[in-house]
Amino acid sequence: MANLITLDGKGVSIDSEAIETLAASLRGSIFKDGDAGYDEGRTIWNAMVDRKPGLVVRAMGTSDVRNTVNFARENNLLMAVRSGGHQIAGHAVADGALLLDLSQMQSVRVDPKAKTARVEPGAALSDVDFETQSHGLAVPMGINSTTGIAGLTLGGGFGWITRKYGMTIDNLLSADIVTADGAMVKASASENPDLFWAIRGGGGNFGVVTSFEFQLHDVGPEVLAGLIVHPIEDAGSLLREFEGIANSAPDELTVWVVMRKAPPLPFLPEDWHGKPVLVFAVCYIGDEDGGGDALKKLRALGKPIADVIGPSPFAGWQQAFDPLLTPGMRNYWKSHDFNELKEDAVQVLLNAIETLPDPNCEVFIAHVGGAMARIADDATAYPQRSSHFIMNVHTRWAEPSGDDLCIGWARKLFDDTAKYSTGSVYVNFMPEDDVDRVGGAYGVNMDRLSAVKAKYDGGNLFRLNHNIAPKS
Ligand code: FAD
Repeated sequence: MANLITLDGKGVSIDSEAIETLAASLRGSIFKDGDAGYDEGRTIWNAMVDRKPGLVVRAMGTSDVRNTVNFARENNLLMAVRSGGHQIAGHAVADGALLLDLSQMQSVRVDPKAKTARVEPGAALSDVDFETQSHGLAVPMGINSTTGIAGLTLGGGFGWITRKYGMTIDNLLSADIVTADGAMVKASASENPDLFWAIRGGGGNFGVVTSFEFQLHDVGPEVLAGLIVHPIEDAGSLLREFEGIANSAPDELTVWVVMRKAPPLPFLPEDWHGKPVLVFAVCYIGDEDGGGDALKKLRALGKPIADVIGPSPFAGWQQAFDPLLTPGMRNYWKSHDFNELKEDAVQVLLNAIETLPDPNCEVFIAHVGGAMARIADDATAYPQRSSHFIMNVHTRWAEPSGDDLCIGWARKLFDDTAKYSTGSVYVNFMPEDDVDRVGGAYGVNMDRLSAVKAKYDGGNLFRLNHNIAPKS
């Protein structure tokens, strides 16, 4: 017997016979609290999320997904869907839910001639790079290689080569999806185009994706990449200059800004370790010598403590931030989109850096635009393509005793910078308590998304996400 929660939030006991029947229909396994495998299924990247699902189903293929979705629907059960387990909000796991764990479905199959890849949802970004880079190919993804491809793609996906080749969703050719009725449907430009539109930015609201097909591009295998580290005291003038450089940079150049206390990196003089710094993290994928004028201008700014830009394997650079983003820490994020880095906004940011509540906390500013911004806001469900900078207040600490201080710091910085932002937000950077920002995440596309939701999931079976209510 297992105790679960229904879609109406009531407790329900599912008898052993029903669970055994479900287990017999699977290639994968079922785990209850106490079974080996249960904790693995419910443990995700953000240690703040410590929830106990009623059952964990570890799926090994689409048939397992269909049988589990049918079981959840027929028993009216609250269902969580987990792939890479990286989402900050922790929607991948809920107390009492039937947890569908896709993390073992990790296959990546590249067709080097067609320059496409078929990817299962449990693959991490590193799995995708591993297979694609062996052919000198890549799809734009994020900057932390242990992130799951599934949640990243469904929310949008951007990283080092997005300015050149678009968002992850802009390179999605098709997906296999198990819908709430248990059917497996294909979504592409020609098959179920409404669903294909919705899954490119609308998150996990519409069904369970069991396979993604991506367009790949020639990238690397070697690129020009690395870090330029400056004292935080110079950040005001550096960011002013940086904005101009970023606005006129070629699509091949991407520069993200990180402000934090310097980690003990081997190339930094020891007396800088632990001191606040501004870091330009750079990736250039063009063929101009030295990365062209924009990169030369960036490298000429101020008096850097270190400049370690040089040739790097692309797959290696994709992992450069992994040591700062390991699983198991407590994390809380707040994010804003900006069209520009206004002087006053920068000052607010710098004041906040003076009071960083923990050495693991940081503020990231992602430089986007380029190819990403040349697609209309309603062409895919991702609605906010024009903003040029995406700030993520990335608070991270070890012990529960730090919760109030760190979360309070992030919220204050978020509030203080709100008036300079566009009001939109990247759905994949929203913590669980950002419920009042769901409208900002789906923006102009909300109404259409809600109609597609009604068509494919009128009963809102897939509700553990930044939820889109089905249109009535
Ligand atoms: P999970 O936690 O497994 O899933 C999250 C939600 O997605 C689920 O609750 C479900 O609603 C839905 N979902 C997952 N799998 C499926 C599926 N197969 N079918 C249907 N719905 C599904 N994003 C970027 O774009 N760029 C970055 O550079 C970037 N950097 C990051 C760095 C770190 C350290 C972290 C933690 C996240 C980063 N992200 C970035 C955000 C990332 O895109 C999201 O966290 C994303 O949700 C991770 O996907 P996942 O499969 O690991 O998520």
